[in-house]
Parts: sequence; structure tokens; C-alpha cells
Amino acid sequence: MQKEYDYLIIGSGLFGSIFAHEMTKRGKKCLVIERRNHIAGNIYTENIEGINVHKYGAHIFHTSNKEVWEYVNSFVEFNRFTNSPIANHKGKLYNLPFNMNTFYQLWGVKTPQEAYDKIEEQRAEYKHITDPQNLEEQALILGGKDIYEKLIKGYTEKQWGRSATEIPAFIIRRLPFRFTFDNNYFNDTYQGIPTGGYTALIEKMLEGVEVKLNIDYFSDKSYLDSLAEKVVYTGKIDEYFDYQFGHLDYRSLRFENEILDQPNYQGNAVVNYTERAIPYTRIIEHKHFEFGTQPKTYITKEYPEDMTEGKEAYYPINDERNQQVYQNYKTLADQLPNVIFGGRLAEYKYYDMHQVVEKALEVVKSEVFI
Ligand code: FAD
Repeated sequence: MQKEYDYLIIGSGLFGSIFAHEMTKRGKKCLVIERRNHIAGNIYTENIEGINVHKYGAHIFHTSNKEVWEYVNSFVEFNRFTNSPIANHKGKLYNLPFNMNTFYQLWGVKTPQEAYDKIEEQRAEYKHITDPQNLEEQALILGGKDIYEKLIKGYTEKQWGRSATEIPAFIIRRLPFRFTFDNNYFNDTYQGIPTGGYTALIEKMLEGVEVKLNIDYFSDKSYLDSLAEKVVYTGKIDEYFDYQFGHLDYRSLRFENEILDQPNYQGNAVVNYTERAIPYTRIIEHKHFEFGTQPKTYITKEYPEDMTEGKEAYYPINDERNQQVYQNYKTLADQLPNVIFGGRLAEYKYYDMHQVVEKALEVVKSEVFI
């Protein structure tokens, strides 16, 4: 018997919404269900005091893939925002990523050759370390003492909740040094923020698609499955299989928000706090993503945290144990031809947004050609 829907899509994040949009466009009937009380998953933005607030952490869209850029711009226009974070270490400010401005602020060097020589001098002190055993040793070999102690150590320790000597060396393979006065964080060709926020982007994608909020797939899985020919699942893969091989680990985040009665708090969207003594890693001032001129401002302090019951899963921890557990789940997933597992949680992978767009469009293509 023909089922009511062609696709039941679990999750209204970027992956689920692109899939729903593309299939609806091709005449398929889709139902999107979402556990939260809003669409857009982790790229959800909420308008507060006229400011589009990135509720699950700051999101900057960047890509070198023209097709992906044109795709997202076909829904809403993107602005010209360029991510140029500032680092604050003990009250002194440094430009990021590491570039000629940073080297000038660190050492007063004014030319690329002077900067290069200074870095080499700093690195020379650690030439004796040939087989780095942890992140501290690796960072010292790559960048020397000043860059490590002022800009890497505290920030990374807060991110991981561990001392740098307990974090594996492979986390930093290289340090990207730029010998030009260029504060643009990303090397990509295209970069920006959707005008009106990311929720506007997802709303456009979901136009004409049936969406039901506040529904947890697992509250009535067999009934929901019975509604559609195929399921697209963008939730956590370990949850789908009832944690039978154990939980996959994540790092979580806690956000502390404040509305301030002033137009401009820090003059930049992102300021990183790189010393360990300050418990948050960065402060986001959301209005600067869209060049806002509102009378008030909205800021968010980000505190990295261990993942415990009830918290949001943010960053997968792709170490050996977790990769093995994921592989076990993936083997089960591959045996379900009518369920597509896609997106950051179902693939247990850190994906930037442009990668999610690429992946979702790839999955659509393979569905269409079946
Ligand atoms: P999600 O957005 O998580 O969507 C999954 C959806 O499924 C959620 O809405 C969830 O509620 C729903 N769901 C799950 N289980 C169920 C269930 N059982 N029933 C019903 N619904 C369910 N990328 C960039 O490109 N640039 C950035 O600057 C950037 N910054 C980031 C900052 C942070 C702090 C983090 C954590 C990520 C950042 N990313 C960034 C990555 C970006 O957030 C992801 O690429 C993107 O959100 C992934 O989309 P998704 O659809 O896979 O997942």
C-alpha cells in the first residue's frame, strides 16, 4: 500500500532542510519532524532587540565551492561579513589568525623577514624535541614560546578541559602563519552571513514543506516510520540504535547571555580570551555579524563543558575509542536500506555548514538516480 509520505525527515537542521527542499522540488512528499520548538537546528538565529542572535554558537558561512555559495545565496542574500577575531590575553589585544599584525603586536617586528626570523629564533629553543608527546610540545616546536603561551595554551586547555600536556600532539599538525597584514580568518573565496539570519535561510528552504515541531522521533518511532517509504535521520546515531554499543562522546558548551544597554560592547563579533584564568573561551557580540546599529547589544560568553545528560552535543571527540564505537553503529546503519543517515550527529563528524550543503546535495543526487 502506498504510504502517505515519500520521506520522513528527522531534524530541521541544514541537512534535513536541504533534503526536504530538493525532494519537494522534485514532486516528492516530505514530512519534517523536529524535537525542538524551532526549525534550523544548530544554526538557529533568534531576533532579540532587533539583533539576530546565534543561539547555538557563532556561525560564519565560508566556502571555496562556487556551486555551494550560489546555492545558499539562491534562498537569501548573504552579506560581506569577514571573520577577523581578536585575542585578548591579560588585557592585551592581538589580531587573529597569526599574521603580520599579530607579529607586530607580539614583538614589534615590521617586515615579513623580521617576523620569520623571530619565529625561527623562538622555535630554535625547542629543536631538541624530535618526537612531541603532547600538544604543548608540538605547539612549542611549531611556533615557539610566546605564541604558545599567549595565544594557544589557555584557549586550547579550556576547549578540551585538560592541561595541554594531556592533549594529544596530533590535534595541531601545523600553525598557519600568514606573512601579510591580513586579519581574514578564513582562506576561502566566499564568506558571509545570511541577511536576516540563518533562520530566514532555513525558512526559505522549508517553504511548502510540512514541518511538525516538538516531536521526538523516538516517542513514537514505529508509527512515524509507518507514514513514509523512507526515513532521513539527522539525529545522533548512537541514540538511533539505543546506545547498544555505548555512548559516543561529545564536548558541550554553555552559553551565558546578556543584553547590554549600550550600542557597542567590544567593537568586534568575536573576541577570544586566551588565558586559562578566564573561564570562558570567547565573547560573541551578535550585532556585528550584520553591522547592526541598534541602541542595545546582545553578548554571549561561551564556556566549553563536558557532555552530561540533558546537554547539547556540540563537538564530536573523534579519538580511537569513539571512532570504533561509531564504526559499529555505521555497520548497523548500512544494513538499513530505507534509512539515510546524514549530517553532523548521524555521521558523528564535525562538519562546517558548506560541507553539510555538499553532503546533502550529494545524497539528494544519489536518491534521484536510484
Ligand atoms: P543540526 O543542526 O544539529 O540538526 C539536527 C536536528 O535534528 C536538530 O534540530 C535536532 O533537534 C533534530 N533532532 C535530533 N534528534 C531528533 C529526534 N529524535 N527527533 C526529532 N528531531 C531530532 N559551521 C560553519 O560553517 N561555520 C561556523 O562558524 C560554525 N560554527 C559552529 C559553532 C559551533 C559552536 C558549533 C557546534 C558548530 C559550528 N558549525 C559551524 C557547524 C554547524 O553548526 C553544522 O555544520 C550544522 O549545524 C550541521 O547541521 P545538521 O543539519 O547536520 O545538524
